[in-house]
Amino acid sequence: MYNAKAYSAASATSPLARTTIPRRDPTERDVQIEILFCGICHSDVHQVRNEWSGVMPTVYPIVPGHEIVGRVTKVGAAVTKHKPGDLAGVGCMVDSDGTCPECKAGLEQYCPNLTLTFNSPDRHLGGVTYGGYSDSIVVDERFVLRIPSKLNPAGTAPLLCAGITTYSPMRHWGVTKGKKVGVVGLGGLGHMGVKLAHAFGAHTVVFTTSPKKKEDALRLGADEVVVSRNADEMQKHAGSFDFILDTVSAEHDINAYLNLLRRDGNITLVGAPPKPLAVSAFGLIMRRRSLSGSNIGGVAETQEMLDFCGAHNITADAEVIPIQKVNEAYERLLSSNVKYRFSIDMASLKSE
Ligand code: NAP
Ligand code: ZN
Repeated sequence: MYNAKAYSAASATSPLARTTIPRRDPTERDVQIEILFCGICHSDVHQVRNEWSGVMPTVYPIVPGHEIVGRVTKVGAAVTKHKPGDLAGVGCMVDSDGTCPECKAGLEQYCPNLTLTFNSPDRHLGGVTYGGYSDSIVVDERFVLRIPSKLNPAGTAPLLCAGITTYSPMRHWGVTKGKKVGVVGLGGLGHMGVKLAHAFGAHTVVFTTSPKKKEDALRLGADEVVVSRNADEMQKHAGSFDFILDTVSAEHDINAYLNLLRRDGNITLVGAPPKPLAVSAFGLIMRRRSLSGSNIGGVAETQEMLDFCGAHNITADAEVIPIQKVNEAYERLLSSNVKYRFSIDMASLKSE
């Protein structure tokens, strides 16, 4: 065991502050990584503030962070895919049972015994796992991703959650050239959804509550932008979408989007508002529409997404911050004041 520097929150109302956490010495299948950048996902905020208490109550102290890019510093004797000096990535998962039908299908994110990167029982050290707001992490090589060397690491970190969470459902629901695709909410996930839908060749429409984001949406790859609070603008698109990806983090009217789907169209929720959403049965019945959800993506698909982003030169638009600004960044995230993902430069932790 060794000590790593980290930022943690002591309660749902405490700010994140400097702390020291234990990390295990790498076992023979482990990879030790010096963390260079860690993105700030809205899920970090939900969990630090215990907003998902009904589903996954937060255990304190919590060290969040699951959009990790770093440099391999040490590997166990049995590790074959990574070596010291390589760039490596870690997303939302660090372990799974490897034997259930979900794991066998490459869908580890649905494993009943999944270990999340933070706030999951830690089967090595006891207590709970600690995430990427830290200078170092040790992870089983099955959950360590290769990072295309030409991508900038600060903008690549957010691909490990925001990238795969938008890539996976769009692949699953057949987003491709000739399809009309909506992305609801232009935040961290949403802006990745737009870049990816555009790269897949789909006609991409952004729905935003923030008229000031219109120009950015077009620059990021949208073909059209709809201000969702304008009912006339919404009505123009009634019954026309093949697929809509909903990334909204708070309560909103999902029925307004159901009505925009064509026959057999699907809307997938990836945003995880703490409170249940009301769904009109008629919105689903009338055109045999469907509503589904999607959780991140499996390990192989995450690697596929990273390689796709490498080939198409896609990274997040990242605002790099020192970790000392993390509490301010949470407030700015909540007021939609970030273009479009914070990425923490962990070099800033060295001086503390
Ligand atoms: P984010 O950067 O804060 O983006 C959320 C966007 O939703 C905002 O930029 C805003 O876009 C829109 N929005 C916020 N409040 C709204 C409201 N009251 N009504 C309508 N629109 C609103 O957050 P994120 O990091 O992208 O995460 C989004 C959600 O996905 C979070 O709930 C997060 O926990 C969840 N998540 C799920 C998964 C998964 O595997 N399913 C993975 C990662 C994250 P506009 O300004 O454009 O309207
Ligand atoms: Zn996330």
